[in-house]
Amino acid sequence: MNALQTIVPSGEIVVRNPATLQTIGSVPVCTETEISRAVTTARAAQQRWTATDIRERMQVIRRFQQILEQQKAGVAAAITREAGKPEAEALSTEVLVVLEATRFLVNSAPAFLRPERVPHASPAMKLKRGWLLREPWGVIGVISPWNYPFSVPAVETLTALIGGNAVVLKPSEFTPFSSLELQKLLREAGLDPGLLQIVTGDGSTGAALLQVDINKLIFTGSVATGKRVAQAAAARLLPVVLELGGKDPMIVLEDANVEVASSAAVWGAFMNAGQTCLSVERCYVHESIYQKFLDRCVEKTAKLRIGNGSDHATDVGPMIHERQLKIVREQVDDAITRGAQLLAGGKPMPQLGPNFFAPTILVGVDSSMRVMQEETFGPVLPVCSFKTEDEAVALANGTEFGLAASIWTNDRKRGENLARRIDAGTVMVNDVISCFGISEAPHGGVKASGIGRTHGRLGLEEMVWPKYVDSDRLPGMKKLWWYGYGAGFAQQMSGFVELQFAKKLTNRIKGGIKSAQSYLRRKPL
Ligand code: NAD
Repeated sequence: MNALQTIVPSGEIVVRNPATLQTIGSVPVCTETEISRAVTTARAAQQRWTATDIRERMQVIRRFQQILEQQKAGVAAAITREAGKPEAEALSTEVLVVLEATRFLVNSAPAFLRPERVPHASPAMKLKRGWLLREPWGVIGVISPWNYPFSVPAVETLTALIGGNAVVLKPSEFTPFSSLELQKLLREAGLDPGLLQIVTGDGSTGAALLQVDINKLIFTGSVATGKRVAQAAAARLLPVVLELGGKDPMIVLEDANVEVASSAAVWGAFMNAGQTCLSVERCYVHESIYQKFLDRCVEKTAKLRIGNGSDHATDVGPMIHERQLKIVREQVDDAITRGAQLLAGGKPMPQLGPNFFAPTILVGVDSSMRVMQEETFGPVLPVCSFKTEDEAVALANGTEFGLAASIWTNDRKRGENLARRIDAGTVMVNDVISCFGISEAPHGGVKASGIGRTHGRLGLEEMVWPKYVDSDRLPGMKKLWWYGYGAGFAQQMSGFVELQFAKKLTNRIKGGIKSAQSYLRRKPL
């Protein structure tokens, strides 16, 4: 159990508002028996759900979309209460992202789930028809983090549901109420209650979910937990998607618009108090504009208003808990000890509460420092300069992570070309983070940032397994390549290979004549 959470004697987790530390409520730590029961209930509901027409599933998603739009203010306030972020962010990066996802799913799922014809190029297979079907996995486990407590589990759940699955969701122990809100809205929209089961609890609950009879797991969280999840999944060959941490670089080329890029750096690093998997964690600026860029970042950071996210004047809210704040403080202290300098922030703000950390700008940083290698997940913007594009690419690719990156330039073609050289699941040219809100765009990383994708068509692909159905149009005919090989058969097969793949036309013709004799050979067994 996380030492930061209080478990009361009845075995419940007490959830607190990170800005005020006021108790919001408590949820149970589900037992293994309760988790197993949740899977059984989900499976029974899934068998009914998968038999329904796709139009019926879309109706539920559409109704959910309407209800969420109507209740957006209440949902945003609930997110802010337990995650701390400003309500404007709860609306833009959580509610709106989920509404976008519903639009994408309603528009795309019917065509995606329709059987897809698989054409055959081989002349030997021309008499067959092939179809690709997309079958639901059954019961999908979802384990989610606290930083996007509504949008992360909601997008994954809705995508799983439209694919014909049921979901057992284990929300973060710090933010379970956003998931319970999702469940409430989906039930109001008419979803069979069995189809979305929520099992509250801590890490041990997540680990227990990996041991019960789920068919696939979508995990979002840290690299350290992701590795534990991958090991447990490997032991039972459970398919997993891992959406893990990032150390996203921002590269500002010499022709970038400094005014725009500096605003992006400040927002990209401090939005959600830097607790965004796609946040700007490192900034590399061309030496020719470095000082001007820094000056603008410092001026803009000084204007940020730090406080309770439920106050509409707040730009930056609290961090989720003191342990996360301690990681940030240790990384900043480590950088300063090794020679970095602070241009803003650098310390906690206890006058606001124990979870507040001042937006921080660090310079004089280098790749040996923890703040340039480890995920910080806090309001810290380390900036350094580079001379050449090659140097910037090497710096950007020089960590174990590969979630996202951004490139800033007035020459879009140059930015797009440079994007090819960055090892990251997403590279944005002249924007940061907003790719998460593009519901058609796949979301996910390479290297330690994860395996697989959520969002978009690739996210839909993860929620179904492909079944190829092959149908032969001549059921009364034995295949020429079956037993009864005989002396000339190898010759004929060699001719068939030459007919299709020999470089010279004459050899192809000869191969065709040789292979034609196979039709004359004695009947296969
Ligand atoms: P975390 O890894 O501590 O916890 C994530 C979830 O896993 C929680 O629900 C937790 O209870 C559960 N868990 C803990 N131990 C477990 C175990 N042994 N087995 C199964 N489940 C277990 O992460 P966090 O602190 O909640 O979230 C922050 C991290 O999530 C950051 O690293 C961030 O980058 C990452 N993240 C990634 C994405 C993405 O899409 N790539 C999105 C959001 C957050």
